[in-house]
Amino acid sequence: MMGLLIIGVTGGIGSGKSTVVRILQKYGADVIFADDVAKEMTEPGMPAYKEIIKHFGAGIIGEDKRIDRKKLADIVFSDSAELQVLNRLTHSIVVERIRELVDGYRNSGSKMVVVEAIVPVEHGFLDLVDSVWVVLADQSSRIERVMKRSRMTYEEAERRIKSQMSDDMYISIADQIIYNNGSLEELEEKVRGLLKDENYSLP
Ligand code: ADP
Repeated sequence: MMGLLIIGVTGGIGSGKSTVVRILQKYGADVIFADDVAKEMTEPGMPAYKEIIKHFGAGIIGEDKRIDRKKLADIVFSDSAELQVLNRLTHSIVVERIRELVDGYRNSGSKMVVVEAIVPVEHGFLDLVDSVWVVLADQSSRIERVMKRSRMTYEEAERRIKSQMSDDMYISIADQIIYNNGSLEELEEKVRGLLKDENYSLP
């Protein structure tokens, strides 16, 4: 019997990462969104919440008792040492939670679990999955897609893309690289091919 296949899908905004995840879902994947897990873990009373308040102080708590993301962002994006602290406080908690969720799917007989993450949490993420799939696309396609989807201007989309990890950084952690510059049909064909390479029996 085949065991559980765990795939990490990552890539910058507009690359087509969510589209790849949707295709995998169609072929039977259970999906975990790292960003949702991170949000859950920083809700009041959750483990990362306490750690963040302990370090950054009660001043970042909003009126609704939640962490005020804007205030936290203002701190960490103007001081990279603080960003590193935030990452250190949260990453291991998020990875631990993802591990629990994967185990849950394993125990319920899942055949494939996909973890989608924009920023692949360094070591934890890479150790957690069997294969890291990086989705890349030309900058012009990415800008066009982001503009269409999020109603950003050209400049806004370009700025977002520039603020994220470079293609080279993604490539350095990739087990598989998916170039998504063609049609959606081509993308699906590529994904099917990769699943076959993983010996996943397509339904
Ligand atoms: P990401 O999750 O990496 O930000 P998405 O998968 O959401 O990117 O894709 C961004 C937008 O581009 C979506 O609206 C999606 O439908 C569209 N898109 C993705 N890949 C293609 C493609 N190969 N051809 C046409 N549109 C695409």
